[in-house]
Amino acid sequence: ARIAVLERESRTLQETLREEQRMAMIDALTGIPNRAAYDDRIEQEFRRWKRFARPVSILAWDIDRFKAINDAYGHKAGDKVLRVIGQHLARHVRDTDFVGRYGGEEFVMLLVGTSAEEARVVADKIRLEIAQLGFHFHDQPVTVTASCGITQFNDADTPDTIFDRADRALYQAKQAGRNCCVAA
Ligand code: GH3
Ligand code: MG
Ligand code: MG
Repeated sequence: ARIAVLERESRTLQETLREEQRMAMIDALTGIPNRAAYDDRIEQEFRRWKRFARPVSILAWDIDRFKAINDAYGHKAGDKVLRVIGQHLARHVRDTDFVGRYGGEEFVMLLVGTSAEEARVVADKIRLEIAQLGFHFHDQPVTVTASCGITQFNDADTPDTIFDRADRALYQAKQAGRNCCVAA
């Protein structure tokens, strides 16, 4: 009986540990994977890509003029925007894809088996939907937009260079006036 009790306790501890490990990879505000989960996943997808050479695209998303939303309607409104957009992005990826909150108002997506050209079509569709989410703050309709930088894994890449290229494409999208997607 003592052994049965110990075994039960050990199982409970293992389950708690597993749950804690899972929670450590989830962003508390948006409920989607966090930066640590992204770091794991990009390494994994990169290794898989080296082996199987199926195209993989990376999309760096950033909410436009987000600071202005916080300033005009408060941090709680800003948090709501992050949650809704995070959830929206999560609904739009396939099981084998990845989306996470990279930090602040930035999100990152990995589309497996999708070229940058194809990813651009997907990104534009998501971008248009974001602009139509229909937020209301202080009883006013508020349009929130996002910009996206896209690239696909290349031969000379490492996980860092892949992200940097997507981030540079995102910067170009901002320079081009925001609410747009740029592939590089
Ligand atoms: P841009 O169009 O160039 O991206 O401008 P931006 O205002 O979106 O960019 P900026 O980097 O100036 O501002 C990002 C803001 O995001 C500043 C920061 O206070 C806010 N922010 C970061 N994390 C959170 C969060 O968890 N909740 C809220 N409400 N705001 C956050
Ligand atoms: Mg930003
Ligand atoms: Mg921003």
